[in-house]
Amino acid sequence: MKRFTKPFTQQLPIPESAISSAVEVMQTGRLHRYNTLDGERSEADLLDMQFAQYLDMKYCLSCASGGYALYVALLCAGVKSGDAVLCNAFTLAPVPGAINNAGGKPVLVETTDDLTIDMADLADKAAISGARFLLLSHMRGHLVDMDALMALCDEKGIVVIEDCAHTMGASWNGKKSGTFGLVSCFSTQTYKHINSGEGGFLVTNDDEVMAKAIIYSGSYMLFDRHPTLPPIETFKTIATATPNYSGRMDNLRAAILRPQLSSLDKQCERWNALYGAFESALAVLPGIRLPVRPEAEHFVGSSIQFAFPQLTNADFPTLIQECEKRGVTMKWLGDTSPSGYSSKYDHWAYLDSPGQLSQTERVLGALLDMRIPLTFEESDSTLIAAVISEVLEELGYPHKSA
Ligand SMILES: *Cc1c(COP(=O)(O)O)cnc(C)c1O
Repeated sequence: MKRFTKPFTQQLPIPESAISSAVEVMQTGRLHRYNTLDGERSEADLLDMQFAQYLDMKYCLSCASGGYALYVALLCAGVKSGDAVLCNAFTLAPVPGAINNAGGKPVLVETTDDLTIDMADLADKAAISGARFLLLSHMRGHLVDMDALMALCDEKGIVVIEDCAHTMGASWNGKKSGTFGLVSCFSTQTYKHINSGEGGFLVTNDDEVMAKAIIYSGSYMLFDRHPTLPPIETFKTIATATPNYSGRMDNLRAAILRPQLSSLDKQCERWNALYGAFESALAVLPGIRLPVRPEAEHFVGSSIQFAFPQLTNADFPTLIQECEKRGVTMKWLGDTSPSGYSSKYDHWAYLDSPGQLSQTERVLGALLDMRIPLTFEESDSTLIAAVISEVLEELGYPHKSA
């Protein structure tokens, strides 16, 4: 029996430079973002500036989590209680959760075989629901044709909010993910592309969205201290009309994120080298289908998805278990019961009947998901593919069909 021994959830250590800056912050005792000396920029301020500059956007607000950023982004975009909000059926629990938190009603849109939002179904669902908002989740880093998507949404007057939890560092046709929508959100939670345990960003070029986001995040009347600040008149009514929902980033986490952000592009290149190795190693497995990734999509390969369309629902649990015994951890995205980090749209029982999503059922029903941590080497892909191959063979796959 073949066996792989590295853990799939092991992150790289926090870089030494980040550790020293965290220690410096702790030595000052000034951990709160507004606790600064005269003329001093806090680490949270510097992080806002650095990420805004990275994306070439006007405004960035560092937040307590990605889910918080999404929730506030929806409110800032104008979602009111009872509003329909379109979103990908293939996404993670924090996405419909953010819509629910904002008082919206998720309207789920089908997924294509290449794991992006289905444009035809988007147009249909928009027409049926009358939704004026789309929370577009670039789930597992798969970017839909962003030019076509923005054209459709602009034509229909749909406001786009981007969930870039898996696309920090990615771009479409040379334009960075997170620069297309009215407002975009990122996560710096441990399993994303930079790691502060918990954390997130909200970015926008819109004055009112940013002014509201700053007040929501809990700036009290210190909003004018923000380094990426809309014209001060923007706050005139917003400052008192907007509640405080306390979701600030603190200086300690900002301190460990800044050096990681400086090396983000380099880390993304490593991820893509690993992804390339995994893609090639897996491609030879019998009956496998790997997502087609368009030329215009510059993705970050921090995970890989692949389908075995001819395996049956009964085969998948065995495949997963047998691979796990051999040290290879994968998720079956079609699993009927939620487990670990993943769940499927029909597990979110608080949703009003999500309706029949037969295409998404078919796609997820055959789909496997594997993390690619940066603690892996390209050569690990060979053994991992060999393990899966061994288990498939035991399952007698591909089945000799008539
Ligand atoms: C992680 C994640 C989020 C939310 O991020 P948190 O920082 O954990 O709140 C949102 N969307 C997707 C697709 C995610 O994977």
